[in-house]
Amino acid sequence: SGYHRVLEENRILYNQVQDLKGSIRVYCRVRPFFPGQQSPSSTVENIEGGTITVGIPSKNGKGRKSFNFNKVFGPSATQAEVFCDMQPLIRSVLDGYNVCIFAYGQTGSGKTYTMTGPKDIIEKSRGVNYRALSDLFLIADQRKDNFLYEVSVQMIEIYNEQVRDLLVTDRANRRYPFTEIRSSSHKGLSVPDASLVPVSSTIDVIELMNRGQRNRAVGATALNDRSSRSHSCLTVHVQGKDLTSGAILRGCMHLVDLAGSERVDKSEATGDRLKEAQHINKSLSALGDVIASLAQKNSHVPYRNSKLTQLLQDSLGGQAKTLMFVHISPESDSIGETISTLKFAERVATVELGAARVNK
Ligand code: ADP
Repeated sequence: SGYHRVLEENRILYNQVQDLKGSIRVYCRVRPFFPGQQSPSSTVENIEGGTITVGIPSKNGKGRKSFNFNKVFGPSATQAEVFCDMQPLIRSVLDGYNVCIFAYGQTGSGKTYTMTGPKDIIEKSRGVNYRALSDLFLIADQRKDNFLYEVSVQMIEIYNEQVRDLLVTDRANRRYPFTEIRSSSHKGLSVPDASLVPVSSTIDVIELMNRGQRNRAVGATALNDRSSRSHSCLTVHVQGKDLTSGAILRGCMHLVDLAGSERVDKSEATGDRLKEAQHINKSLSALGDVIASLAQKNSHVPYRNSKLTQLLQDSLGGQAKTLMFVHISPESDSIGETISTLKFAERVATVELGAARVNK
């Protein structure tokens, strides 16, 4: 009947509005053992839907604990599977919303693998960054009769609370300079002085990601393996012109590979290592605080406590959509980090529950 049709239309509209509201989704991914590791047993005992159960060694035998997320990907999940239902997020960037996808976990748990891919990268092992941009171009092309899109990217690194531009060219002779995060009202960019490079194809994107990696490697000479102790962020800015109304939409997507979340033993770390550890702890706990206060619907959200949260301010909370990949290693000597990672992630996952409660 007409009445039911109206009800149904309202329901669809309601769901669409809900869908556009901000939320945080949390996906957990378990790294496989490395080839050649001697038949170790995994700390992950079971994965079923969005629930992961880990075994916890204790004095009297073994306990276990389960954690719930939107999804859990086991060690055999492929890059394509992990990316598979991300299209709605990409679509919403083109609709003018802000999106943030970030990778969390201890060093060696697979963050860079998820976001970028393995070192010997081939088409099917490409990570989220590449796939997200590739889908973005695809959807933009499907909409070309109605919208004219311009896409440009920035790539920065945050190391010891200092922000650096990763996309400067060698020729510019100001290789790898510092830059600043400003309030986002500044030209709509939160890092206005960092190189902003227009891209129109995935080939452009691969070239830029390589440039960013090269610049990052240069910065790493002073300290080994610095990439695990800095946050790197690929930001995609999209501007769409509605060809009928002339209206302009602006969306932005942050793709963030966070620093390793492992706790550094304060008694052992000294000098640079201690300083790095303090900065990482500070920024990851600032991220946790922002998420916790969003979950509690606090009127004040402490974005300004770290460069990382300043950078992500417009993409956490409000109308923005956030997806966090939490990574865990399967080895038993990582169990401490695994548990603290899963606890952090569960805290993040409650932001969505909080939002759902208020909306009802
Ligand atoms: P992180 O960025 O968290 O420090 P990496 O992404 O560098 O960790 O992963 C550590 C190692 O494990 C790398 O050699 C990577 O290729 C491998 N690895 C991580 N995740 C997977 C996976 N899902 N499948 C196969 N190899 C993986």
